[in-house]
Amino acid sequence: MAGPDEARTRYAAVLRPGPRGTERVPLRAALGRVMAEDAVASTDLPPFDRSTMDGWAVRASDLAAAAPGRPVFLRPSGEVHMGVAADVPVPPCGAVRISTGGMLPVGADAVVMQEQATVEAEGLLVSRPVIAGENVVARGADIRAGELVLRRGWRLRPPDLGLLAGQGLESVLVFLPPRVAILATGDELVPAGAPLTPGRVRDMNTVALAGAVDAAGGVPTICGIVGDDRPAILAALRSALAGHDMLLVSGGSSVGEHDLAMEAIAALGPPGIVVHGIAVRPGKPTVLAAAGTVPVIGLPGNPVSALVIFDLFARPVLEAMLGLDPGSRPWGLVRARLFEALPSARVREDHRRVRLEQRPGGIWAVPLPAGSQILTSMVRADGIVVVPPGEQGLGEGEEVEVRLLT
Ligand code: AMP
Ligand code: MG
Repeated sequence: MAGPDEARTRYAAVLRPGPRGTERVPLRAALGRVMAEDAVASTDLPPFDRSTMDGWAVRASDLAAAAPGRPVFLRPSGEVHMGVAADVPVPPCGAVRISTGGMLPVGADAVVMQEQATVEAEGLLVSRPVIAGENVVARGADIRAGELVLRRGWRLRPPDLGLLAGQGLESVLVFLPPRVAILATGDELVPAGAPLTPGRVRDMNTVALAGAVDAAGGVPTICGIVGDDRPAILAALRSALAGHDMLLVSGGSSVGEHDLAMEAIAALGPPGIVVHGIAVRPGKPTVLAAAGTVPVIGLPGNPVSALVIFDLFARPVLEAMLGLDPGSRPWGLVRARLFEALPSARVREDHRRVRLEQRPGGIWAVPLPAGSQILTSMVRADGIVVVPPGEQGLGEGEEVEVRLLT
């Protein structure tokens, strides 16, 4: 049985996933999308020296001798208006009224806060020196023309959109999202809206997996539920192959189910099944396969397993298809102390869900139930602690890394 890293490596060697194309989208629709081009600054940001305060644009050298009890008088003249070029130069011993964000006039190199100046009959009285550049954000201080703003492969967040708009862009070239088909298998499954009859359970995986695909940046299609019937599963998978870039099949991947989903996946054609069975808990009966260039992943039916396995094996493939630069978005990690000991799952790497709690001694990771059927163990979780395979396990109070769930 392959370990998780070996499984991922073997799978990636067969698949070589990548983006299927690009499209230009308005910035307003670009949140979460992955840049397909480098964005290089065309203009300095800010485009001119700006005041960061309401006050007076001055020459710092005029105020070198200012001190409490020894004020310097400046001659106020005019005002800088917002949104127009500052056309009033500041002569020696002069001062020009300016607002936050106003353009620093010629001659001025600093701003005196209005709270630190008083207007008197003799002029503007300042009792404190300023240094050149004080209360000023210099042209290009945020970003300079020619600088790389955002790199190809970067997933766009809200401030990124603002920065692109600040460069005069209204749209951005992004990679096309992978289209992911999701199929649930199991004779016992009914759709969420149907009444429960004895022995039946509701399908929780298709909608949860669709959410996981959405959150990862893919476009999910729920293809519904099929019974434990090999021809029916095969037919559903074959029809999903058209128009989708990736297939996820939940359930039917374990030996107890006569490997129905596995058989159907294998029948899709080469290269076929690359990995079956991974030394991980939850989710041992996982199938990593491909039909042509389309990744086909058989996820265990237990709802926790399906989601944990999605994160470990489907998400990296999906992200590669999105064009995401693997270095650009590491997992969110938090260090915490383990509230109670976690035994190992022997040969399997165990992914335990934990809640984070602020308690005396810092942040503690409180383990939630281990069972892969207990979906609330994931609903209530803030993150996952990985217990490495082996005899040891993790001890109470031990410092651990918690991978945050999104
Ligand atoms: P399987 O992987 O088909 O052996 O299923 C393992 C367990 O997960 C069984 O208890 C199934 O009833 C349950 N299960 C399978 N598919 C789903 C689903 N779509 N939603 C909720 N539970 C499921
Ligand atoms: Mg089943």
